Amino acid sequence: MAPSAIVLSAHNLVKTYGLADGRKVHAVDGVSLTVHAGEVLGLVGESGCGKSTLGRCLLRLMDVSDGQIVFEGQDITHVGEAALRPVRQRMQMVFQDSHASLNPRRRVGDLLAEPLKVHRRPDGKRRSATEIAERLSELMDLVALPLVALNRYPHEFSGGQRQRINIARALALSPRLLVADEPVSALDVSVQAQVVNLFADLREQLGLTYLFIAHDLAVVRQLSTHVAVMYLGAIVETGVTDVVLHRPAHPYTRALMQAVPRPVVGAPRPLLLGGDVPSPTVRQAGCRFHKRCPVAQLSCGTNVPVLRKLDDGRTVACHFPLS
Ligand code: SF4
Repeated sequence: MAPSAIVLSAHNLVKTYGLADGRKVHAVDGVSLTVHAGEVLGLVGESGCGKSTLGRCLLRLMDVSDGQIVFEGQDITHVGEAALRPVRQRMQMVFQDSHASLNPRRRVGDLLAEPLKVHRRPDGKRRSATEIAERLSELMDLVALPLVALNRYPHEFSGGQRQRINIARALALSPRLLVADEPVSALDVSVQAQVVNLFADLREQLGLTYLFIAHDLAVVRQLSTHVAVMYLGAIVETGVTDVVLHRPAHPYTRALMQAVPRPVVGAPRPLLLGGDVPSPTVRQAGCRFHKRCPVAQLSCGTNVPVLRKLDDGRTVACHFPLS
């Protein structure tokens, strides 16, 4: 089967922050990735590994320090706000905190209508009140909320319902790509499953492409077609979800599987991690994982592993990948 079109790609992306004491935080450190149309790329890693920063950089919600971002064939790395406006209609974000991302003083209908009023139709005309009302009705239908929800305020809803409102708002302008940053991690487990199912249904119904950021591999496995595993600002393993999560080749990926409450039947026994997560302000010599890696060799402390393709199609940054 021919590969589908590339929706989003990043090339050697770098995001560095300066701290007040003069040190630098290497939040994103040379990330390259590609998301094809219709794919769900699950971006996983521990808290603080840089995955949320990477998501925001990819949507140009923050400037990058170096590298290139290409969306639908257009280099958007350094385009200004005016040129970004039409691009933003095509790429939207769903945030983790469903409460903080909705203005508590505005009714849901007003919150959802806002992007439809701010952004013009593709033909350059403004949407009429009737068009907006029809779109709001469609959006409520898409996220399975009743129409009366439009007249209520965010605090009148549960966390799961508020996340549905956030998803509806992200969908308002019919985007092609959704970047969802830990969209279910603040929800109860039973509600998490419902929201993940909603993401899956919407992808099928609307032909959406997702970058799904999460630390929970169980959630990622349920939804993602592909996975990219991030450690200390860099991608260490990427490939088709079943391949990567069932037989992880990078020791860090295997260690991450300890966090999965329902282990895969027949999966290799997870490796236990030692040591603490190194500070992102200190550049590691050699493999950035070597101080915690249970199978590290002497050379890992000096030789930097680069992402290379294995026979099964995945890419791994490790000198001694697991089999
Ligand atoms: Fe572990 Fe060495 Fe592989 Fe790094 S390169 S993950 S230290 S085995």
